[in-house]
Amino acid sequence: MALLVAIAVLDHTTEVSVSILSLAPVLITAWFFGGRAGVMVSVIAAVIWFVFDALSDLVGSHMPYRPWDAAIQFATFAIFALVIAKLKAALSHADERFATVLEGLDVMVYVADAASGELLYANEIFRKTFPDGQGLPALPPGRNEGEIHEAGRGRWFLMQVRPLRWIDGRIARLSIATDITERRRAEELHLQQQEKLALTARLVAVGEMATTLAHELNQPLAAIANYNMGCVQRLRSGTWEPAELVEAMEKGALQAERASGVIQRLREFVARRAPRLAACDINEVVRGVRSTIETEAGKHSVRLALALSERVPYVRADQTLMEQVILNLARNAIEAMADAPAGERELRILSRDGAGDTVEVEVADRGPGIDPEIEVRLFSPFLSTKPDGMGLGLHISRSIVEAHGGHLWVTRNGERGASFHFSLRSVYA
Ligand code: ADP
Repeated sequence: MALLVAIAVLDHTTEVSVSILSLAPVLITAWFFGGRAGVMVSVIAAVIWFVFDALSDLVGSHMPYRPWDAAIQFATFAIFALVIAKLKAALSHADERFATVLEGLDVMVYVADAASGELLYANEIFRKTFPDGQGLPALPPGRNEGEIHEAGRGRWFLMQVRPLRWIDGRIARLSIATDITERRRAEELHLQQQEKLALTARLVAVGEMATTLAHELNQPLAAIANYNMGCVQRLRSGTWEPAELVEAMEKGALQAERASGVIQRLREFVARRAPRLAACDINEVVRGVRSTIETEAGKHSVRLALALSERVPYVRADQTLMEQVILNLARNAIEAMADAPAGERELRILSRDGAGDTVEVEVADRGPGIDPEIEVRLFSPFLSTKPDGMGLGLHISRSIVEAHGGHLWVTRNGERGASFHFSLRSVYA
């Protein structure tokens, strides 16, 4: 008010026209107290100016008083006040929008002084995560992006840092930190599973190798022993023809080569076998081993019945390894029915939608069921009740299924026999 009076006095008592300076208090008021207050100050400014104008007219100035000038002055000031108020509202709106976005982000955004490290801004999620305002460890010098481990909370963050000139002109650092702990955990788990799978695949290969070795080496070794004994006998008897001995020894050498070929082939097989995961239809896997199972079942007078539920979802699996599981379970089932009455020997393989987005396969027999003596150790390696059993089948099968993130378990098959089940998570789960 005093300022307005001073301006009016100056305007009327000197030659200089300073009435425009009244715009300053009008604008300041409009900026800080809004458009209405600005208009009020415009009225006051115009009235004061008009009062002094009228007074100077009364005291006999050379100028007649100018009510229209006062009105125009008021209108101009009021328009400025309203525009300023609008401008301020628009500005603060823009700020608000920006702040709402930053506060709503689930990524931490914060700004710190580049020199002192003082925190200048932090969004809500940062304030919640670090109420002490301590912030995250800095990236190694020279890097502006990287993964950081925060030991206090045991969490991982992806940090991105950019230099920034802060509103007051100082140099600051804008940091964006995304919590990637879950992603890293999932990656680690995946890696562990992959490793387990690779290991299992090798185990399967070793199991196969041991069985095949036993079968395939038996013949050449027996032949070598025969040729050898033949030579020994002839040498002992003293009636030997060099040509005969050479022939027998050559044949022995050939068999030894055959044996080493077997080992070589198996070694290559073990080295090559790496698991390959792909979406697959478990029914197709079962059908793929059907003829192999039927051949073995036929030899033991076992009937094979498939009850596959159509439209089971896909699973992510290594087809060859899953075939191995089904074959192992089917072989055990066939062998378990060796003493069952011939008419009752039925092997059933079923598939169905399992609990909780899984696909379940069941291999059921009508044998004696699991011997209670070994039930708790059923899946341990080298446990076998068969004279020529290796005791690896169930152990390997369970390892394969678990390496795929699934489960393998056994139940009673109704009144008679055992049912082995395994379930795998469906691809769409
Ligand atoms: P192997 O077949 O070489 O003995 P496995 O690990 O496949 O090795 O099986 C371990 C043992 O579990 C078998 O020796 C047998 O006693 C028991 N077993 C497996 N499947 C069945 C089944 N379907 N019914 C009864 N017992 C079974």
